Amino acid sequence: MIMKTIDDYNFNGKRALIRVDYNVPLDGKFEITDTTRIDATIPTITKILEDGGSVILMSHLGRPKSGPEEKFSLKHLITYLEKVFHTDVLFADDCVGNSAVELSAHLKPGQILLLENLRFYKEEEKGDEVFAEKLSKLGDIYVNDAFGTAHRAHASTAVIAKFFPHTKMFGYVMGNEIRSIQNVLINTQRPFTAILGGAKVSGKIQIIQHLMDKVDNLIIGGGMMFTFIKAMGGKVGSSLVEEDFVELAKKTIEDAKAKGINLYIPTDAVIADAFDNGANRQYTAAGEIPDGWMGLDIGKETMISFSEVIMESKTILWNGPMGVFEMSNFEEGTRFIAAIVAAATKKGAYSLVGGGDSVAAINKYELEEQVSYVSTGGGAMLEYLEGQVLPGIAAING
Ligand code: AMP
Repeated sequence: MIMKTIDDYNFNGKRALIRVDYNVPLDGKFEITDTTRIDATIPTITKILEDGGSVILMSHLGRPKSGPEEKFSLKHLITYLEKVFHTDVLFADDCVGNSAVELSAHLKPGQILLLENLRFYKEEEKGDEVFAEKLSKLGDIYVNDAFGTAHRAHASTAVIAKFFPHTKMFGYVMGNEIRSIQNVLINTQRPFTAILGGAKVSGKIQIIQHLMDKVDNLIIGGGMMFTFIKAMGGKVGSSLVEEDFVELAKKTIEDAKAKGINLYIPTDAVIADAFDNGANRQYTAAGEIPDGWMGLDIGKETMISFSEVIMESKTILWNGPMGVFEMSNFEEGTRFIAAIVAAATKKGAYSLVGGGDSVAAINKYELEEQVSYVSTGGGAMLEYLEGQVLPGIAAING
């Protein structure tokens, strides 16, 4: 698939209307406590400004109920944007009002205009066409750089694209996310190992099924391992088990065998007598957990066998922690696997860490620079891995 990105376009004299994901956390004084999402868009905006273009930024922030709310105003981002881009940032206090129309009409090369929160209009989330068309009038070119909302068919993320039939494209954030997934699922170097963890089978089963036709090795860890262990006839004590999914886990084991996929399920575990960091701990075989005890991490034997598989891999996808890594006594498996993914990357593998808590884990262990790519879009990445079409991507490609 050839991607339409901003690299193929010269923005000289043009106004780029960019959908960014500036849904950043603000503290009680409306100061940004994590600027990652804004920082990620700097290369896209810089490229357009350096071409001699101007930029109109549109985003949502939080979940306003009905109409404007001070705590969800994007004006709180102006100071930081001015600091990053060393220029004044114009602000339209109504994303489709007169001020937006006026300011965008007179925008000069090098200028940045920020629009007020799109979700102050309920039309945004409804994917309203009239609203999307009003927004479209503000720019000459539409750039989507908001991977975090690519799985939503909202006015500014998908519907708007139809008003730019020949001038719609991806920014660098989107381009990098799509390329990383393509590196894993399409241009796959083999062996390909997927490491799936996290709490529940129910949340990951669609990913497992989608990956079944693609991977060589499938590693299962986290809370969901116990549903698989139960399916194999093991004793799991009071570990997290989804009874409704035991049959599906059995079928997954059979399918893996039939397809020639190596399925790795933990052979030992760290168990505790309570869901508490201060609980009593023991190591046991994963299928021999006594009553009153629960598995909260993978054991040492498992860590070693998983690491051997990961180190031999050329493509690695990691989604979901191996245990309750938020508690220091049950984080060793996750920390170890994070380090092994980094080591395999150093050896030449392509590694993508994506979707939810494995991203938190790789950041916690400060290994984010030592893997090939860390995805910024939790829900969007999960849906992508499930094989779903993301409206934000389809709208640009279509
Ligand atoms: P998910 O959002 O599905 O990736 O799940 C992440 C959560 O799974 C984290 O909060 C972990 O604490 C939790 N988790 C991992 N292993 C276990 C386990 N053995 N028992 C209960 N929860 C777990």
